[in-house]
Amino acid sequence: MRLFSATLATETNTFSPLPTSLAGYKESVFLRPGEHPDATPLMCTAPLWVARRAAAREGFTLVEGSCFAASPAGLTNRTDYEFMRDTILAELKAALPLEGVLLGLHGAMVAHGYADVEGDIVEHVREIVGPRSVIGVELDPHCHLTLKRVRLSDIIVLYKEFPHTDVVERAEDLLGLVLRAIRGEIRPVMSLYDCRQIGSYPTTLPLMRGFVDRIKALEGRNGILSVSVAHCFPYADVPELSGRVLVVADRDKTAADRLATEIGREFVSMRGRTAPDYLTVDRAIDAALAVPGAPVVLAEPADNAGGGAPSDNTTILRRLLERGVENAALGPIWDPIAVRLCFDAGEGARFPLRFGGKTSPASGLPIDATVEVASLKRDCWQSFGPTKVPLGDCAAIRVGGVETVLIENRTQALGLELFSNLGVNPRARKILVVKSTNHFMAAFGPIAHRVLYVDSDGPLNRNYARIPYSKVIRPIWPLDAETNPGLIL
Ligand SMILES: [Zn+2]
Repeated sequence: MRLFSATLATETNTFSPLPTSLAGYKESVFLRPGEHPDATPLMCTAPLWVARRAAAREGFTLVEGSCFAASPAGLTNRTDYEFMRDTILAELKAALPLEGVLLGLHGAMVAHGYADVEGDIVEHVREIVGPRSVIGVELDPHCHLTLKRVRLSDIIVLYKEFPHTDVVERAEDLLGLVLRAIRGEIRPVMSLYDCRQIGSYPTTLPLMRGFVDRIKALEGRNGILSVSVAHCFPYADVPELSGRVLVVADRDKTAADRLATEIGREFVSMRGRTAPDYLTVDRAIDAALAVPGAPVVLAEPADNAGGGAPSDNTTILRRLLERGVENAALGPIWDPIAVRLCFDAGEGARFPLRFGGKTSPASGLPIDATVEVASLKRDCWQSFGPTKVPLGDCAAIRVGGVETVLIENRTQALGLELFSNLGVNPRARKILVVKSTNHFMAAFGPIAHRVLYVDSDGPLNRNYARIPYSKVIRPIWPLDAETNPGLIL
């Protein structure tokens, strides 16, 4: 038995001022066949990593293809997308004959000329491997679960957790189902329910926690193989942006339809109750200072690099400095130029630095201050569940009572290493500001005395009705009051 696996992934914010080219993939994940490290998967590469470990045990041959992944930003350059896609397709052709294909995709990638990149990839893969090969795909729940990709693949499994701490478990689910389908033990059928809604669904809050736990309990019983909930990725102007529910069942399409409809209706009934409360910047600082314990974590979703934001908005930092707040730390601010200047100045130096506020009007104005270079470290990493994310060279700078972590590779706050790499102890700070929507919770939730969510003036607007969509299929909640949710496959 022969399987092939490859990865091509990013999350595209079509409103982002940052174009994505091969350079963005080379900075994150750009691995040719056989180059993937053994130690840990790199988020979307989990299917390949899991299959590599299972091959000998399960008695199959894994042909490894390339893995390409970039941090979320704007549209991927057309030539670069086609180069990466065609590289993988050439590897796939060379690997024939194949009983199965495992694709580690994100699901919300957009390239110039391609609104549904993953649909395009699956279509080409199907053409090459033919109708009898089993195509399995792992996606992020912040994806556009388009009809095209669902029709052309056999099994799709999404991560269930947000923060995405179950990337490896879901890849194992996918591999297990693909192997069973190849062996003829199951014949997967899929049903898709479109909830016609845009929302945010952290699974660290009680309503979503209960919903996901109930869904998990349905799997493996009564012929139900897998249930996935696509949250959607709100910062993309693509036609099929919407929350959707996918059920994979063994042979019984009617049972899949029934369950997808039941879960879809429940998801619709949760509208408006799944996201946390957002405080204004000053209210959040007031509330943090009023809490007796520490650390109080202030999350800034509006400037989350994980949603394609530049991560260089300065508004919260400016208010902390203007208000003379002591014992605070903030990170990350993406500013490779400022990092370079700090390395040139050297550890312990005090010098005038302009940092942050560079990329677009939604970055705010840069901060001009005499900073102390508290700490410098090259080639840093942070953890996210079992995966490792590169930060590049990092600098911790001190201004007033605030230490700020500047990074070279644009990414969100995920692991405590973001601070501890540089000798900043996150447990010892009164206020910790993290630029992230909810992934920070995996590492910062357990050490936080309190977590507060702040709505800054960063580019990721939490009010979806204010996002200037032109291509999204209407009606959709909350842009339209009346919607028509229903089964679409
Ligand atoms: Zn996601």
